[in-house]
Amino acid sequence: MDKRYISVAIDGPSASGKSTVAKLLASKLHFLYIDTGAMYRAYTLAVINKGLDPKSESESNILIGKINISFDDNNHILLDGKDVSKEIRENVVADNVSYIASYKEIRLFLVSLQQEIAKGKNVVMDGRDIGTYVLKDAQVKIFLCAKEEERARRRYLENIENGRETSFEDCLANIKKRDYIDSHREFCPLKQAEDAIILDSTDMKIEEVVEKMMEIIKEKGIEL
Ligand code: C5P
Repeated sequence: MDKRYISVAIDGPSASGKSTVAKLLASKLHFLYIDTGAMYRAYTLAVINKGLDPKSESESNILIGKINISFDDNNHILLDGKDVSKEIRENVVADNVSYIASYKEIRLFLVSLQQEIAKGKNVVMDGRDIGTYVLKDAQVKIFLCAKEEERARRRYLENIENGRETSFEDCLANIKKRDYIDSHREFCPLKQAEDAIILDSTDMKIEEVVEKMMEIIKEKGIEL
């Protein structure tokens, strides 16, 4: 890893607010923000769109190296050049993404893309295995968590705000299911890096979490 560049790795369970705070933090720092969850979701969408079965590893693997996943200048996720930032938030994607993310070959494909995007840049990257695998030399590692019920409440409100039909119970069930699969998979499970700082956002406002992260970065003696 090139030490001239700074990497901030933010990991944690589903709907802990990683993307929201990571995006704000990156903009405050003038760093590039990379949402790795969006990449797993885009791959999942591609599998569904092609009529393949996300529960079948061999069928899902067919698309490795055959689809193009990237971000545009506004940080919108592109699948083969098409902006799919709305589609990847649909329930059908949320319900299947953790199967896709448990397949080793697909992870290796997406991890190499993630490392390529981060190369030679100051970045804030969020996901499940950033501090433990993707950017394991990151100067700053934060594990962001929050109580399950609070995470489900946040996801429910976000869905309602975006006109996605849902219930609180469905959000809670999806979060529980994804956390279970994500933390029990064999390759690169969701896990706190040994050198990560835990931040519990249950009773914190978004701005407070971002401020706390800025403090953590300053305490590390990183010059910005
Ligand atoms: O972050 P988000 O909730 O959008 O991620 C969607 C899913 O993608 C997660 O539930 C997980 O299965 C997978 N994921 C992963 N590793 C990452 C990022 C996301 O396995 N680095």
